[in-house]
Amino acid sequence: MKLHEYQAKEIFAAYGIPIQKGAVVERPEQVEDVALAYPVVLKAQVLVGGRGKAGGIKVARTPDEARERAAQILGMTIKGEAVRRLLVVEAAEIGAEYYLAFTVDRAARRLVAIASAAGGVDIEDVARTTPEKIVKHHVDPTAGFHPYNAREMGRALGFGGKHLLQFAAIAHGLWRICAEMDAELAEINPLAKVDDSLLAIDAKLIIDDNATFRHEGLPRNEELTELEAAAQSQDLSYVELDGDVAIIGNGAGLVMSTLDMIAHFGGRPANFLDVGGGATTENMSQAMSIVLRKSGVRALFVNIFGGITRCDDIARAIAAQPPAVPMVVRLTGTNEEEGRMILQAAGIHALTDPESAAQEAVRLAAGAQ
Ligand code: GDP
Ligand code: MN
Repeated sequence: MKLHEYQAKEIFAAYGIPIQKGAVVERPEQVEDVALAYPVVLKAQVLVGGRGKAGGIKVARTPDEARERAAQILGMTIKGEAVRRLLVVEAAEIGAEYYLAFTVDRAARRLVAIASAAGGVDIEDVARTTPEKIVKHHVDPTAGFHPYNAREMGRALGFGGKHLLQFAAIAHGLWRICAEMDAELAEINPLAKVDDSLLAIDAKLIIDDNATFRHEGLPRNEELTELEAAAQSQDLSYVELDGDVAIIGNGAGLVMSTLDMIAHFGGRPANFLDVGGGATTENMSQAMSIVLRKSGVRALFVNIFGGITRCDDIARAIAAQPPAVPMVVRLTGTNEEEGRMILQAAGIHALTDPESAAQEAVRLAAGAQ
């Protein structure tokens, strides 16, 4: 899960990484009330990258200018994401820009610290054109990352004296964030020299989704849509898509192939929803209400291969609340006969062949338009 810059910076500050003085606002007129020294920098809080280039970062010299620019940025949509908040910070006079990050190197099966004296720009470009300007240190998971590792990296970047100690403290703080918060990316770009001290101008933090349960105080995951968040709170694995055929299946592989079949026959899936192995009648009811809440859904396709999940449990949920849109049910496997009987009693016919069922779902979605 990605955190916003302001959320990441709160964590950075708690780990002793210096940041600019700032405040978060949601409406342009709030900018005038924040007690900051001008000039200030207004920064769109979005989870997509490259805000600066997209016009999401602007300098203001007076409160009037700040309100005007805040109104501009708060009205923007950056790469599909509406700007709902701004981080306003006291502008820093940047001397030099560096890059510092910890990220997962999957091939090496460990975290890697990456630093460069060529910061502020796309690190991918630096890696491609001048790889010699990048310093890397793979972190031994049993040994961890120690202050002397940080100093070694700092020396390789050309730091000495107090700057070396500052760099090492920041790098070590960033490492502790990774280790204690299960981050898969912690990045400062640029890490800038301002008034002869180092300052984190930007902050990126991605927490491993598999570890979020270990961290109580995390902010809400804003990458999720409203429906996705609702599904997550019911332990349903749901991803919203932009089509009109709602889909429920059991097992990620079956659901993926169901989406493919719908697309193959010319339809557009409205979602991915895996009720999971061993889904109960209640899980299935919840799944149905989630997928049907999405606007623009024209048909529902339920594709169940009963194993640990029992067809009769699924059928009970369907029979109890038949959807308002046309539905196709493909049911096979454990307790199939019982399931069919329950559906039949509710006037619902279930198919066994997934392909003809998918074709039927596509046809229904088109016909319902
Ligand atoms: P990004 O575009 O999402 O990476 O956002 P950043 O926070 O990294 O800002 C983009 C660029 O704006 C930085 O690389 C800086 O060059 C510039 N910038 C941001 N904040 C300040 C600031 O306080 N002072 C100055 N001089 N430049 C800034
Ligand atoms: Mn940046």
